[in-house]
Amino acid sequence: MKIILKNISMKFDDVIAVDKLNVTMEEGSLVSLLGPSGCGKSTTLFMLAGLYQPTSGQLFFGDQLVNNIPPEKREIGMVFQNYALYPHMTVLKNIMFPLKMEKVPKKIAMEKARDMASLVHIDHLLDRKPGQLSGGQQQRVAIARALVKKPKLLLLDEPLSNLDARLRLEMREEIKRIQQATGITTIFVTHDQEEALSISDKILLMKNGRFQQFSGPQDIYDHPKNEFVAQFLGNPPINLLPATLSGDRYTVQLTETGEVIQLPYPVSKEVKLNELLLVGIRPEDLYIEVDENKQGIGGKVLIVERIGRDNLVSFLIGERKVRAIVPLDASITQGQRVKFGLHPNRFHIFRETDGENLL
Ligand code: ATP
Repeated sequence: MKIILKNISMKFDDVIAVDKLNVTMEEGSLVSLLGPSGCGKSTTLFMLAGLYQPTSGQLFFGDQLVNNIPPEKREIGMVFQNYALYPHMTVLKNIMFPLKMEKVPKKIAMEKARDMASLVHIDHLLDRKPGQLSGGQQQRVAIARALVKKPKLLLLDEPLSNLDARLRLEMREEIKRIQQATGITTIFVTHDQEEALSISDKILLMKNGRFQQFSGPQDIYDHPKNEFVAQFLGNPPINLLPATLSGDRYTVQLTETGEVIQLPYPVSKEVKLNELLLVGIRPEDLYIEVDENKQGIGGKVLIVERIGRDNLVSFLIGERKVRAIVPLDASITQGQRVKFGLHPNRFHIFRETDGENLL
């Protein structure tokens, strides 16, 4: 089911939790609501669930305006952060529960519950009680219960936050698998950018209740619309270096070193000559430059840390710490002076005042 939010706002007294949100989520897609604590993710999810009614704006499920439709009539399945399983009921009974509420005959309900248990790979646990299950297994039960009525929309509230690192990885792949197997439009809340980047078809990134960007993982990572988006995605985070326009609109000069960077495209016209800019370069987009005549940024190596198959090199240019991911065989040592090259298409120029990406 396609989900359309038109100018949706939600106010609690004087707090604007969600501010004029406009988004269209395609049928069958897996969308993550991402952003820092308090940005309005849960409020948005609760409006979709019908637990909150938007203060203004229109919410459509397909062609149907659902602002006034109560939760139980919305054909949604929801999984809460704490799973909210009934502790005294077996796994089978937990999964059957929504059908029981609808007075579905027991035999049919049992069949449907078994099918769902099989989909989420917990067929062997049907007689256990939630207390006898691991976190990941409990979550599978919660997902099976949310899916048993074949909802048109599945809502997941921070589904992985109670799991340890290994299980998180396993369950996020499982969520993707189950979503693809069922084809149900699925929206999940997370504050973990890596999680969002790894499984979503689209990421809706919010800040202070406001829309920032709605794009696919690759697109939002490679083409952040503003500095906040660029900073929020990526670990280690993007490097930001103060700069100004230098003469023409194809050249910026780094404030702290005076080095000049040639841009692949002109920055947009609104920028004034002395306006403060930030050059954004991701750590993986810096490479060691051996040719002294080529453009780049130089500095003194502060620390070299091994991260998996690469080294994370932190170096200082002026007072500013910059990070680069370089291959292990580059043999860079602490204290060494190095020059890093920039790929012509792999950096961003942000306006400092409003953060807008100018390239
Ligand atoms: P978190 O990641 O911490 O769960 P979130 O992105 O889900 O945060 P929301 O819970 O949607 O954020 O909250 C958005 C804003 O609205 C916050 O400033 C919060 O304090 C406020 N808020 C949320 N629910 C209520 C409420 N019931 N009454 C008053 N203010 C609320």
